[in-house]
Amino acid sequence: MPPRFKAILLLALYLVKTVFRRLFTSRKSGIAAFRANYDADGLPPVSLAEREAMPDFSRCIACGLCDRGESGRIAASGGAYRGLMTLVLAGSRSMPDYRAAAYSFSFVTDEVLAQKEQICPTQVPFRGIARFVRDKASAVGGALPLPPRVDSLPPRSA
Ligand code: SF4
Repeated sequence: MPPRFKAILLLALYLVKTVFRRLFTSRKSGIAAFRANYDADGLPPVSLAEREAMPDFSRCIACGLCDRGESGRIAASGGAYRGLMTLVLAGSRSMPDYRAAAYSFSFVTDEVLAQKEQICPTQVPFRGIARFVRDKASAVGGALPLPPRVDSLPPRSA
């Protein structure tokens, strides 16, 4: 059989096989396939609106103003919450960390976040970041609390 003819025949066979497999098997595709592949890594899909909001999430200039007055919440968290600047600059930057970041955000109310937005010199949208982190964390299992005791941390109050 001439090589060119053989190549065309093989391509045609695989095309037919692929079309039939797609028609008659229940393999996931699109967002469902994405979720099946990446949810376990903590990487849920991002909507267009969320993607467009992301540049605003990276406006922090590390001035530290949003951490003023946070010592009580930091202490009460037993180390799980280390201040807002850390959450803005680190915890919310990598989606696989969002379950831990969502737990950290749980120590700060939206009311406090709104107050912090008023004092942030670059208008970082704390509530928007917290919402995004919580939404993505809940899509892959929810906020991750620390275990009741972590040897490297002081004992936590309730
Ligand atoms: S106040 Fe704004 S710019 Fe300053 S550290 Fe906090 S988030 Fe960053």
